Amino acid sequence: MANQFTKIKAIVFDLDGTVYEGENLVDGALEAINSLRHQGFQIYFCTNNSTRTRQEIANKLNHLGIVTTSDSIFSAGYAAAYYLAKAGIKQISLLGTLGLRNELSAAGLTIVDELDKGQAIVVGLDPDINYARMSLFSTLLGKNMPVIACNRDRWFPGNNGELKPGCGIMVDLVEALMGRSVDLLAGKPNTLLLEMLSRQTGLNKNELMIVGDSFESDVALAKAFGSLWVLYAPHGCKNSCQNSVTTMNDLPEMLLR
Ligand SMILES: [Mg+2]
Repeated sequence: MANQFTKIKAIVFDLDGTVYEGENLVDGALEAINSLRHQGFQIYFCTNNSTRTRQEIANKLNHLGIVTTSDSIFSAGYAAAYYLAKAGIKQISLLGTLGLRNELSAAGLTIVDELDKGQAIVVGLDPDINYARMSLFSTLLGKNMPVIACNRDRWFPGNNGELKPGCGIMVDLVEALMGRSVDLLAGKPNTLLLEMLSRQTGLNKNELMIVGDSFESDVALAKAFGSLWVLYAPHGCKNSCQNSVTTMNDLPEMLLR
């Protein structure tokens, strides 16, 4: 059946709230991904998660039964590394987890501990932030050090659907400490992630479709890049309902061709 999806070669899934919630799979996500692969679609994952490396994310998906490799994962930390490399920045300081540190190191960046000694600061979700670390930002006041944040998502879904504070809370804190806005948000809805995916896979915007549960990040990303999208709205859609599914089980049929 000819439909608007005939050109699509790859589906790019958001992770938190779309494929998994905390340590549990979203109902129907595994079956939908397997079915779409059977239909011939390539499957990629695109996440604003800034706490784990791409390999750690791939390991989690494999553990949940979704077979994938780190090459198919596009994360906000990876996007930040890509941006910094393009900008010729080699030394950074970091507010974030060991996972983010490892991701940035793997991209060839050197991490320095003193906030004012790098060429830029990268901000991710840091569950260990404390008053001493916050105080270090006073050394940056009045300086024009570029600050790259992974994303501005205030909350993300943990186990059993409870909300957990996200990287956006860190960004609010850093902006309050520095008295100015961060310079760049590397994650969704910034199109950096899809630019990287497109460059790596050779697929263009017309061949990609984004599936996610957030209008503000996933749908906004797809619109900014010029790709088709489907909103996963398990509690029902408020608008653009023709482009939404309330269960992952409906996705493969929507894309039958
Ligand atoms: Mg999500």
